[in-house]
Amino acid sequence: MTTPGKTTPDKSTPGETTSGKNGRTTVAFIGLGIMGGPMAAHLVRAGHDVVGHNLSRLAVDVLVERGGRAAVDTADAVREADVVITMVPDSPDVEGLVLGEDGILAHAKPGTLHIDCSTIRPDVTRRIADAERERGIRPVDAPVSGGEPAAVDGTLSIMVGGEPDDVAAARPFLDVVGKTVVHVGPSGAGQTVKAANQLIVAGNIQLVAEALVFLEAHGVDTESALAVLGGGLAGSTVLERKGATMRARTFAPGFRIDLHHKDLGIVTASAREAGVAIPLGAHVAQLVGSLRAQGHGGLDHSALLLQVEELSGRGRS
Ligand code: NAD
Repeated sequence: MTTPGKTTPDKSTPGETTSGKNGRTTVAFIGLGIMGGPMAAHLVRAGHDVVGHNLSRLAVDVLVERGGRAAVDTADAVREADVVITMVPDSPDVEGLVLGEDGILAHAKPGTLHIDCSTIRPDVTRRIADAERERGIRPVDAPVSGGEPAAVDGTLSIMVGGEPDDVAAARPFLDVVGKTVVHVGPSGAGQTVKAANQLIVAGNIQLVAEALVFLEAHGVDTESALAVLGGGLAGSTVLERKGATMRARTFAPGFRIDLHHKDLGIVTASAREAGVAIPLGAHVAQLVGSLRAQGHGGLDHSALLLQVEELSGRGRS
């Protein structure tokens, strides 16, 4: 584990607190979707008192079956919490959860650690962090990578932004759900690194999709082709994890095109703000936007393959 900002938590950190139910740390977990559901389950298994809230009740019931508790709303979830973890889709969702009437600022106790694992705009993260510090809440941005399989296995990569003491306090919880947990800088830095992650992943998927259609058009056995490509410089986690499902044309999410479209909006805006050219990234952002506009926003991002087929006159629909 690489930890430039690593410090040893002192006894006052939430990692050591015992104010929760039965003397355990109480962790409020808000957003129990594809990623949040398994992450919350890991925290239950690690012995924490996890109280969950989600817009649809079914996900909360699943958490309760796994040993967690149900909250009726955000205020109810965060009121007694030592740690609040949010894992919701987009910037406005996190803004609502933090700044809303029912939200974290209004109802969490001073000293509460707020770890936001959602992928959102770095500028929004910084603004929220300033508001939270003014109220004695300790903000940490901790977006994740690795997708649903890594959430289920507890092996996420987590890029962490925040003050060193707050990050150190968050680390015991992040270590439960992640394998590579790295403090990358102050508040917002985690989101900037995550944006770079999304730029690389989208470009990689697009090129794997193009390579597959190219190989198929030449009548090459793609199973053998991907096996040998995976052993060379063309190998990648995308090729390893998505190659087989792309060959089989199974595009159940996973990571939805809608979410990658949101992330590439963050990437292009942040690149513009920094005066950086990302010609390939901007192009892939257009391709993802186009796939979404065609009604495929609910499919996994590996469905970029469908568009390569269409562009090549080889569509199957
Ligand atoms: P999801 O849509 O499956 O889950 C989000 C959950 O948040 C939903 O269950 C929804 O009901 C809940 N929610 C939204 N607003 C809420 C609110 N105000 N109060 C309570 N619950 C609320 O999304 P996901 O795939 O789990 O992604 C969550 C975040 O993680 C996103 O920012 C995404 O970009 C990021 N992410 C996803 C993946 C992936 O592979 N799915 C990988 C890395 C990062």
